[in-house]
Amino acid sequence: MAIAVPEQSLFAIAVEQFDQAADLIGLEDELRQILRTCKRELIVHFPVEMDDGSIKVFTGYRVHHNVAAGPAKGGIRYHPNVTLDEVKALAMWMTWKCAIMGLPFGGAKGGVCVDPKTLSPGELQNLTRRYATEISILLGPDQDIPAPDVNTNPQVMAWILDTYSMHRNAGVTVPAVVTGKPLLLGGSAGRLEATGRGVVYAIEEAAKAYGIDLTQARVVVQGFGNVGSIAASLLAELGSRIVAVSDSRGGIYNPNGLDIRTVLDFKQRTGTVVGFPEAEPVTNEELLELPCDILIPAALEEQITEANAGRIRARLIAEAANGPTTPEADRILADRGVIVLPDIYANAGGVTVSYFEWVQGLQHFFWSEEEVNNRLRAIMVRAFQAIYATAERYRVPLRLAALALAVQRVAEITRLRGIYP
Ligand code: GLU
Repeated sequence: MAIAVPEQSLFAIAVEQFDQAADLIGLEDELRQILRTCKRELIVHFPVEMDDGSIKVFTGYRVHHNVAAGPAKGGIRYHPNVTLDEVKALAMWMTWKCAIMGLPFGGAKGGVCVDPKTLSPGELQNLTRRYATEISILLGPDQDIPAPDVNTNPQVMAWILDTYSMHRNAGVTVPAVVTGKPLLLGGSAGRLEATGRGVVYAIEEAAKAYGIDLTQARVVVQGFGNVGSIAASLLAELGSRIVAVSDSRGGIYNPNGLDIRTVLDFKQRTGTVVGFPEAEPVTNEELLELPCDILIPAALEEQITEANAGRIRARLIAEAANGPTTPEADRILADRGVIVLPDIYANAGGVTVSYFEWVQGLQHFFWSEEEVNNRLRAIMVRAFQAIYATAERYRVPLRLAALALAVQRVAEITRLRGIYP
């Protein structure tokens, strides 16, 4: 069964989370008003020429939630369920994510309402170039720097880089206008793996703090794309047993553990993990409720809801996806003592290495993968310690602690800058 489609407004969820954090830190009304709204919301409708000569009109978005801390930063997703509401929520979460990690960026997100699997490579390129042109009024290496997200990748970033450079800069290359680029175009070592790797660094810190032995841990991963598959591989290297994984078509379960390398080869050959031998088939819903120590939602939003939170058996949930848990589910999980490593921290390795990529590109000086990973780990550890200390201090779950830190930081930046004019 496919991954469930969200039912609740994602932006309403993001605002509810923000309000909880604002209450916790006693944020003044003026700053609440500023921070609970998105600064800019661009909607574009644009034609694309298809391979058969016909024209199709697509809808896309680019939203800046807040740019007090620096240029707007955030990915672009291609998915048939993309809406303005979703992109606004994801943009707000980017603001908090960058703040928690101490990155000099504001929060943005973009998306096109399309199922890219139905497009030829040529159509995908046409769509990307036209969308990039339409949103180029917002983009720029000091204004707004996109990156990959669901169903986009380094190739899509290369097309955006080229389109922006041609359209806005007379053909002169502007590498720093996107991150998550191919290495040959100024990408960073380690960026492709960074989100999954960051999830594992986050889990390692949580495991230390809460006494979970990763060499004995059973792990379930929903979503076997760039993030889920890397997190699964790295956890397997640490000795954990990956008992179930899934993709948009369904999941596979083997309580004795799956060999992730072989699953990856199988998926490469067949396009899905479904049908992998030596495993039972499970639906994406069933997979979330399997017995395990660590559950990693690495697919889409609103997967853990009040409908299934009471049946989750994991001790720790590490949110590799953005927004996989609803506020009702959060309350149920907290009551049941399930630890949630929140998305705005757990998956922040991606944007952190995007920051490294941007810095390296601006300096024309590139680091080794080891240096990238070491710096990523240092920032993930520092952020975990701050979040954990805040959670202990206020006796609140990690999400609320992380949000409180982030909101505090962006509020302070806004106070320092004052209100223009
Ligand atoms: N799309 C990723 C995220 O949700 C990465 C964003 C970026 O690198 O700018 O965090």
